[in-house]
Amino acid sequence: MATDADMATIDEALIMTALETAREDAVRVREILAKARELKGLNASDATALMAVESPELLEELFDTARRAKDEIYGRRMVLFAPLYVSNLCSNDCVYCAFRKGNPEVHRRALTQEEVAQETRLLIDQGHKRVLLVAGEAYPKEGLDYIFQCIETIYDVKTEWGEIRRINVNIAPLEVDEFRALKACRIGTYQLFQETYHRDTYAKVHLSGRKRDFDWRLNAISRAMEAGIDDVGVGVLFGLYDWRFETLALMQHVAQLEERFGVGCHTISVPRIEPAVGAEVSEHPPVPVSDNDFRKLVAILRLTVPYTGIIMSTRENPEMRRETLALGVSQISAGSRTNPGGYGEEDYEMSQFSLGDHRSVDEVVRDITEMGYIPSFCTGCYRMGRTGQDFMDLAKPGLIKHYCEVNAVSTFVEFLEHYASPETKAVGDKLVEKVLNEMTPAQRKRAEPLVHDVRGGQRDAYV
Ligand code: SF4
Repeated sequence: MATDADMATIDEALIMTALETAREDAVRVREILAKARELKGLNASDATALMAVESPELLEELFDTARRAKDEIYGRRMVLFAPLYVSNLCSNDCVYCAFRKGNPEVHRRALTQEEVAQETRLLIDQGHKRVLLVAGEAYPKEGLDYIFQCIETIYDVKTEWGEIRRINVNIAPLEVDEFRALKACRIGTYQLFQETYHRDTYAKVHLSGRKRDFDWRLNAISRAMEAGIDDVGVGVLFGLYDWRFETLALMQHVAQLEERFGVGCHTISVPRIEPAVGAEVSEHPPVPVSDNDFRKLVAILRLTVPYTGIIMSTRENPEMRRETLALGVSQISAGSRTNPGGYGEEDYEMSQFSLGDHRSVDEVVRDITEMGYIPSFCTGCYRMGRTGQDFMDLAKPGLIKHYCEVNAVSTFVEFLEHYASPETKAVGDKLVEKVLNEMTPAQRKRAEPLVHDVRGGQRDAYV
């Protein structure tokens, strides 16, 4: 049972003081970058010092260190997923979101189970194995059971060559017992964004509904962990308040989770506000994050929490996505639609926000393959129980690479065999050969039989 002492809190005064006094200091920055190269993470004071970096030379040193850390820990793999919006019903009024209750321009809809199955089929046919189920923060008449039914429906859909193997979930905060029931549905990560950690800003942009309660939301991740969900994802909607404050507050939040549960978060999402129909604030973000600051924030996060996945959505344009993959991003969505029923429709008017990357999964896969990344559809860790603390115990000594790169290749080959266009298959096959040739003998010994089996018709081969 959680006590008051267990409640998450954000020490705003501490952050403000740190930011006010932060100045670029080349000697200190280089010391911090040397520490970052040990891949043990950085503290808030280190991150604050990196945020003050402005000079081009130091900035390039920061980016270079982030690129090396990314490469060292994650190698060449890049995890792909797609959001599956099941409902836009919402009882909150968040001024930046098209789904907000007060928006008359949105046609409200919760997909029927048949429609959920149809969307799932469309995603499987694109090659996806991992989806993020997203719903507005209100349910149809079945209540939370609606979400449980959707999860069951998605897992039940099987096609000749595919199925969804992992469902991550981004839904409204729950009570501990409800989180237990959600975990029993075999979800992967539970994801929830605080949107902004700045209390006054939070009050200004969340006009009504349960979401107005800053603390209820802030403590939702702890309730999920109390319920036994050990893979959790946090995030900020960048553009509502100063990105530096948000990043330091997010670090406080993660540190408190680590202290209480022995493990922090599995992923951090870094969405920037994008225009949304009927949500004026989204057209003019109060504190927009420039492209350069955005690169900086990804690089700083990569060095601060080196083993935590960083997720980038299709809000960003292809160019920014390419750059930030190198700086630290480890998971991207591809071919996304952000309206319920969006994969079967041409009309995206009802999307939660507008997209910066409209390319198909095949195009994204080809693009990142040409950059040398192995697109990974792997869901092995979750199904082998390598989650939470177990995942971190493997990740920190670098052992996760032995599984991840091998599984990435195997699932990529599965994609190439059954879903890729001829052009993508050609560049993909070439990359697979190159990666196999460059593997350590131990890795290759594991990878080759899997690749052989998948090419022979086996699916879902992983270690
Ligand atoms: S951000 Fe979420 S809670 Fe807020 S209006 Fe949109 S869907 Fe509802």
